[in-house]
Amino acid sequence: TVRTRFAPSPTGYLHLGGARTALYSWAYARHFGGTFVLRIEDTDLERSTPEAVQAILQGMEWLGLAHDEGPFYQMQRMDRYREVVKGMLEAGTAYLCYCSPDEVEAMRERMRAAGEKPRYDGTWRPEPGKTLPPVPEGVKPVVRFKNPLDGEVTWHDVVKGPITIANKELDDLVIARPDGTPTYNFCVAVDDWDMKITHVLRGDDHVNNTPRQINILRALGAELPQYGHLPMILGPDGQKLSKRHGAVSVMEYPEQGYLPEAMLNYLARLGWSHGDDEIFSMQQFTEWFNLDHLTASAAQFNPEKLGWLNNHYIKQADNERLAGLARPKMEREGAVFDGAPPLAAVLGLMKERTNTINELADAAMLFYRAPKPDAALLEQHLTDAVRPALAQFAERLRDVEWTKPALSAMMKEVLAAHGLKMPQLAMPLRLLVTGQLQTPAIDAVLELFGRETVSARVAQGL
Ligand code: GLU
Repeated sequence: TVRTRFAPSPTGYLHLGGARTALYSWAYARHFGGTFVLRIEDTDLERSTPEAVQAILQGMEWLGLAHDEGPFYQMQRMDRYREVVKGMLEAGTAYLCYCSPDEVEAMRERMRAAGEKPRYDGTWRPEPGKTLPPVPEGVKPVVRFKNPLDGEVTWHDVVKGPITIANKELDDLVIARPDGTPTYNFCVAVDDWDMKITHVLRGDDHVNNTPRQINILRALGAELPQYGHLPMILGPDGQKLSKRHGAVSVMEYPEQGYLPEAMLNYLARLGWSHGDDEIFSMQQFTEWFNLDHLTASAAQFNPEKLGWLNNHYIKQADNERLAGLARPKMEREGAVFDGAPPLAAVLGLMKERTNTINELADAAMLFYRAPKPDAALLEQHLTDAVRPALAQFAERLRDVEWTKPALSAMMKEVLAAHGLKMPQLAMPLRLLVTGQLQTPAIDAVLELFGRETVSARVAQGL
């Protein structure tokens, strides 16, 4: 059965690349009814923070990428790593090395000077018939992995195709430091083994780690997972995605008013394709997702397309849900909801053309603050020719049936009686009722504001 994992290092927020990796790993497990494991790689004590762990968990939650197992924390698995190191020493697949860091550096320097690739020279590597140097006193050894000297490591990368690295390119990796703490590639290999991971999808910045991890897994007698290295996400200008391209942290997107389903749909298509399909649900995605249509070239982040998808999902979204998202933002802008039209209905009326909840919230503010029509504009639109019509309109407000069609019919009658055209009445009305000239259809606006508010605001204008 399929077991995938997402293994972020909590050294910062969850960024778009990480979220995409998580999404693909999650979807692949879902596709096969498998298991999606979350593992927090927190062994870098200098750079890992509990805040970053929270940020990653929050990002995953916002996206709805629920894990089936975990989160596992590498820092809580130290005993297990030590046990595996011990086992490898006993099995002879790892050995103690008493070279000091200075000696190793000097060794590398010599090789660089000789024009060779700098590497550990195998001083402490046991071989049949070889005599090792005497163990120096008071030196705590590191543990090195006994990497095969000959041959090569080949794997068929599900994204990049076959990749081959010669073993002589690989050092005898330090798997445990003098204080016994295990090192990065070793922990990853042990975890993937223990967690029975069948498919490793991760960023292609890890390609160089893969042959090392494969060799360790082989030495452990583990079954190898399949590997897929996803290319990076670039900014629209082809440069590595960074702050100057806008938000990099996934959690900035809800701040800016993006819906998770838009982000998921966007990331799903960023590096994977299903014919010409652009819009699909996660249900559809997990049905379709496989490793055959992953894109090997770098993906380019396109904010317009994300906006377009977000607009699509905003239009689809339940208006009450939109209200729940927009309300806090509007409250911060000083919106007054008491006695004002219901927010869900207002958003439903206005959501057609907005790309974000924030835009929608801004647009909807006209319903929730006292109108302050510009005097000059008012003078321009509320002319002497229009005033009598507006007065009659105000009269008729009292008993007109309060529905859009009835309001609309009433306005037409007033216009006809005064020989005016719709904008001549609609524009001053917009100004008086909302304080601005740009609003949704006037009959819809009036209906939402209600008889009392409309009457009061028109009366004030007269
Ligand atoms: N912890 C690594 C990272 O955040 C990922 C390791 C892996 O997926 O194997 O880049």
